[in-house]
Amino acid sequence: MLETSVYIHFPWCARKCPYCDFATTAKAPAEVDHEAYADAVLRELERRREHLSGRRLYSVFFGGGTPSMWAPKSMGRVLEAIRAAFDAEHPELEVSAEANPASIDDDWLLGIRDQGVQRVSIGVQSLGDAQLKHLGRLHDRKLALAAVGRAANIMPRASADLIFGLPHQSAEALLRDAAALLDLGLRHLSAYALTIEPGTQFGELHRLGRLQPEPDESYIEHYQALEGFLRSRGFSHYEVSNYALPGEESRHNLHYWRGQDYLGLGAAAVGALASQPGQGERYKNALDAGQYMAGAGPAEWEPLGGTELVQEALMLGLRTQEGVSISRTESRAGQALSRGREAALEERAKSGDILIEGDRISVPHDRWLLMDSIVGALF
Ligand code: SF4
Repeated sequence: MLETSVYIHFPWCARKCPYCDFATTAKAPAEVDHEAYADAVLRELERRREHLSGRRLYSVFFGGGTPSMWAPKSMGRVLEAIRAAFDAEHPELEVSAEANPASIDDDWLLGIRDQGVQRVSIGVQSLGDAQLKHLGRLHDRKLALAAVGRAANIMPRASADLIFGLPHQSAEALLRDAAALLDLGLRHLSAYALTIEPGTQFGELHRLGRLQPEPDESYIEHYQALEGFLRSRGFSHYEVSNYALPGEESRHNLHYWRGQDYLGLGAAAVGALASQPGQGERYKNALDAGQYMAGAGPAEWEPLGGTELVQEALMLGLRTQEGVSISRTESRAGQALSRGREAALEERAKSGDILIEGDRISVPHDRWLLMDSIVGALF
């Protein structure tokens, strides 16, 4: 049976953050029609149901946007229908939800736990009040710590996101933030470099010359300091932006980075399913939540052939500690991984940028800061 994950996109946030280029729009929490959105997701699930036969449900992830603005009962209804739509499910089905510190309380956490969500990932971003203000977040340090403490107590598994490379952020302050989160009992942490994306408020300020990114040295210093600290606390750096204690890795994300199939549901959700070796499709749903709820079909669709499936596997898998499985990639893509890139593989292996060991290709850890150029050379 084909292991398949499901991603459900919740398209709204209480306020749009100025750096964010995710497919979300601002909506007052009181204006969310919880059941109507769940109904729309269930209608899409019904339409895609025929593609699910012979598949086993591996993991479910409610992302966004701010899923912590969605009523647990509505999320539970969606989860129940997803589980019923598959012929089988993994015995350790992982169900996760993203959450915003400003919108989680005990009721929401207890509610989603009752509905079968075991893991929550909280967008803390920083514990510095000045940095949180710069990022336009709705929470401050106090609220973030309270939210994480609550989640760590109530949920079987909890994680938090941090952002580094922020103005006036020292490496020491970043490590203090990480330590404070671990002290609350977190066994998983994600850490991303702040990037200025076109089409965002930060992108516009940058275009006008009113906002500059921090120098590269600052990003590198933060990245290395955080990695050293988390390793000293027993965490493995299992993907470029993710750290976990043994066994606490996000199984949903690992499945995705392994280049496996995932169904996307909800406005702006992306899905990628391969029906047989070398043949698959990738789609992106209508971006506008109103249009999606009115029944609009995917905004983008593309066939995935062997070449695209190999590229996807390299792009995602090389970012992980375990690297890319050659045999798994070839059986999904229906073609040799090395096809068309024999010379590039040889050259990069010789220079030490990649390791080829048995069935695995990986990027040695000391080259992870060069990841984009290494992966680009193998395309
Ligand atoms: S809360 Fe998260 S998803 Fe929503 S706008 Fe901010 S960064 Fe983007």
